[in-house]
Amino acid sequence: MAEATFTFPPDFRWGTATSAHQVEGNNTQNDWWAWEQEGQRLGDGRVFANQVSGLACNWWENAEADIAQMAKMGLNAHRMSVEWSRIEPTPAFWDEDAIDRYRQILGAMRDAGIEPMVTLHHFTNPQWMAGQGGWANAESVTWFARYVRKVVDSLSDLVDLWCTVNEPGILAEMGYYRGIWPPCQKGLGLYFDVYLNLLRAHAAAYEAIHELQDGARVGLSKAMRGFKPRRPGSPVDRFVARTIDDAANGIFIRALMEGVWRPPGRRAQPLPELQRTLDWLGVSYYHRYESTLKLTHPGGMFMEYGVPTGVEIGPDTWGEIHPRGLYDLLAQLKRFELPLYVTENGRPDEVDEHRPRFIVEHLHHVWRAIIVGAPVMGYYFWSLVDNFEWARAYNPSFRFGLLEVDVESQARRLKTSGELYAEICKTGTLSSDMARRHAPDALASVFPGEAPVPLARAET
Ligand code: BGC
Repeated sequence: MAEATFTFPPDFRWGTATSAHQVEGNNTQNDWWAWEQEGQRLGDGRVFANQVSGLACNWWENAEADIAQMAKMGLNAHRMSVEWSRIEPTPAFWDEDAIDRYRQILGAMRDAGIEPMVTLHHFTNPQWMAGQGGWANAESVTWFARYVRKVVDSLSDLVDLWCTVNEPGILAEMGYYRGIWPPCQKGLGLYFDVYLNLLRAHAAAYEAIHELQDGARVGLSKAMRGFKPRRPGSPVDRFVARTIDDAANGIFIRALMEGVWRPPGRRAQPLPELQRTLDWLGVSYYHRYESTLKLTHPGGMFMEYGVPTGVEIGPDTWGEIHPRGLYDLLAQLKRFELPLYVTENGRPDEVDEHRPRFIVEHLHHVWRAIIVGAPVMGYYFWSLVDNFEWARAYNPSFRFGLLEVDVESQARRLKTSGELYAEICKTGTLSSDMARRHAPDALASVFPGEAPVPLARAET
């Protein structure tokens, strides 16, 4: 086994990530809350075991305890989101108490030496907004910009790193194409319309933030899933993989980098107002899928993606865990000459069996990307705590935290992966010694090679 230490840049942001609805608890005024309650009443299984988010990790009352833990772990950054429905529970009415609570939480982070990255929209919507068509309504862009102005007015002394929208493509896909998240609509055309509205909302937020705050750094978090052909030798499967990749990732890159909106198979529409609206790009990276033709799926242009076989995969429909893909992605994104942040990376793992190796393997690839010149400024592990995993709720197979959370008692316990990540953050390095102690199953993949023969013996 080779002995090695990978050293990261001294100003690297070592962080974790959470989102409001997944950790705060009692977010009673958003569309998810209403949808969970309805599911529980009907018992229709839309959410795992008909659970509801409930108290989640109780951050609304006690985020401070977890912030103290972040500081103990040596983190210097955290990505959190603010909840639109708390700040604007009815149109243009601002809940100043909610804003004050966010000021306390952000102040506690600052006091602990933790730089906040604040996401302005992470999947949930105020019920009044959802009731008017949500993101399918083009007006949503104006509503969002009004809310963003209020947030920036209220928090800009505490925050300068803003993430406008979390994963526009995922929200559009789950809520408006697959119909398995609220508002449970299903249409390919709708998917593209909603995707575009979210990008327009991002651009409007970008303008608004820069107008209000000097020195703000504004970007968004894009889920970058990989899609490979089921049969690499098949031109059809290769075409399908390219088309799905284009519908998920390509349209995003064209819109924000070139100012052109062109979903696959449609006419191009110039959108110059979208171009150059990123000061940085956030990448959330989890897994990849394989894709093929599906003749019984006309609603998806006869194409579908699914879980590959013969490779390491996650539970249920979670795709292939493919650490090297993170290197490829970051190295490819280098050409846009934008600071890059890994805004989310993690894996579901009930008993923390695979997570330590996951961290070692993925961070090794982040380090490799930095070595070839990708401007990666920080890494935010998903997630600090086991939390409410959307439609998978508190399914034990879908725990993501470095800290175990008992939802009933709210007790916390640092997992092995948490101990490992803390060592990495404190030292700004990743070493074979850390892997040996916390993730021995990562030694072969990340630190291969023969053990050095002691010199004296080699000479005899
Ligand atoms: C989302 C998170 C989610 C995570 C794990 C990301 O796409 O932003 O909210 O918990 O994936 O599924």
